[in-house]
Amino acid sequence: MHHENYIRQCYDLAISAGRKGFDTFGALLVRNGQVLESAENTADYERGFFGHAEFNLVHLCANRYSDDVLRESTLYTSCAPCERCLCAIASLGVRQVVYGVSWEKFSRLTPFDAPSIDREALLRQLGIEMHLTGPVLEDEGMRVFEWWGGEHRPLAELIAEMDAIRAQNRADAIARLDYADVFSHIQPGFFEKDYIRALPPEHIFDEQVLPLSDYDPAALPIPVPAHITYGRYTGDHAALLEAVRAVDEDWAQWFRPDSRTFVALDGDKVVSFCLLDDFGEYEGLRIGAPGCVGTVPAYRKQGIGLRMIQLATQVLKADGYDLSWIHYTHVGHWYARLGYRTVVRWNCRGVVSE
Ligand SMILES: [Zn+2]
Repeated sequence: MHHENYIRQCYDLAISAGRKGFDTFGALLVRNGQVLESAENTADYERGFFGHAEFNLVHLCANRYSDDVLRESTLYTSCAPCERCLCAIASLGVRQVVYGVSWEKFSRLTPFDAPSIDREALLRQLGIEMHLTGPVLEDEGMRVFEWWGGEHRPLAELIAEMDAIRAQNRADAIARLDYADVFSHIQPGFFEKDYIRALPPEHIFDEQVLPLSDYDPAALPIPVPAHITYGRYTGDHAALLEAVRAVDEDWAQWFRPDSRTFVALDGDKVVSFCLLDDFGEYEGLRIGAPGCVGTVPAYRKQGIGLRMIQLATQVLKADGYDLSWIHYTHVGHWYARLGYRTVVRWNCRGVVSE
């Protein structure tokens, strides 16, 4: 396909820029199968020169080609254009833009997630007609970034470096959290609920958290009976409800057939259980929550429930959650054994300050 040919030329320009010590981006303007202009990135951070390839290309074309020519031309670029470049391309009057690497893939090489924006629709609202096509030869395009800034480094290493920065940023964000605010965000209207207002004021409950980035269940061995197995529950719903009712009749309403449930099993008998709830996001951090935790009476005091929560917490980590949250507990000391820390205490009237 002809797009691939031009995108490969953009990749060559990008590598050429990288070899000179610049950022690895390149762009072309093509009309009727003819390359009119080409440009590389020349960004200079010290001198504050923007120098993006598309921006440079736009400036090469300005006052050199008529509006008619530009309208019929296609701008090819090695990577989906940033917003400043999109505006520059729009100002030039080019309507067709084809990119190699997508915003989403490129974001793997930055500490930020790419916002999912319908750029064509936004431009259309401004009366600007522009068609964005891509990605094209994206895997090949990602390899181009190995030449970033004049020093060849494997793509996997570049991505790992950014992943580490993202993880640190998330850890910093967690360290700065105002948990009372998080609590009101994930449980809106909590203290207006009748069953909360009806609690005796002397009953104080905990909200607890455990950051998951460094969480490792192997760090705390819990001796448990060897024949007990653990996992997401996929068995008969009625059998699960039977175990739940043996612990708390009221809880059955929270365990629906489509609920995510993690259990401990003795053979195929549910002996300990919890929900894997999704408490949504707060400032980009995903919060998961083991909830309605219970162990049927004959299996208590053997570490089975604690081991189950330890493994359920690991499942939340594997599912991409940043924080595990224990909501509405009066056994905070029990979860504390796994590393959970009380961040908010409350009674029927609201948050209790100590
Ligand atoms: Zn740009």
